[in-house]
Amino acid sequence: MMHPATALSFAGADVGFGVVATQDLPAGTIVWLRDRLDQQLSTQELKALPLLQRDALRAHAWSEGRGWYLTWDHGRYTNHSCAPNCAGLDGEFDVAIRDIKAGEQITDDYAFLGMNIAFDCRCGATTCRGRVGKGQVVPIVPQTEALYRKAMARVGEVEQALAPLLSTGDGVGFDLLRPALARTRRRARRQGAA
Ligand SMILES: [Zn+2]
Repeated sequence: MMHPATALSFAGADVGFGVVATQDLPAGTIVWLRDRLDQQLSTQELKALPLLQRDALRAHAWSEGRGWYLTWDHGRYTNHSCAPNCAGLDGEFDVAIRDIKAGEQITDDYAFLGMNIAFDCRCGATTCRGRVGKGQVVPIVPQTEALYRKAMARVGEVEQALAPLLSTGDGVGFDLLRPALARTRRRARRQGAA
């Protein structure tokens, strides 16, 4: 599920629709969390679909080793950037890796997500790779990786509007986030006691 302070927005003729923040979201904010309403399909299930559905699905689903995922809300319109403001882990969640301003488009580096498609990119970033595809993850995203690590150290310190999904276990990515949340809360308690 996408953060409630995000909305679908037309991003231009080249890109089509995208998702924008409707309020400032500080680094460390969980912007999207996979939940039980998201659909998961195996590659076999995808291949069994009529071409019409398959093509439509490929435009909005993303693939990981375990299959294809389709986000049920506007999160499916999140666009790629070679200089993204969000990053995640194993397609389970997305965290803001830098401060995102209200009105700014939410973006991911699709290569970081492990997408197994390749496409020509016109994201406009000064670091745009031109061609985005599988196999780029290890060599090209050290900056994203570094920002991601810093952001993960803050997830327990910033307001998390998706927290209700975390506490009920509805967010499938909860187990991956639990250690980061616990770590930062312990640190906050230590600082509070000092
Ligand atoms: Zn690009």
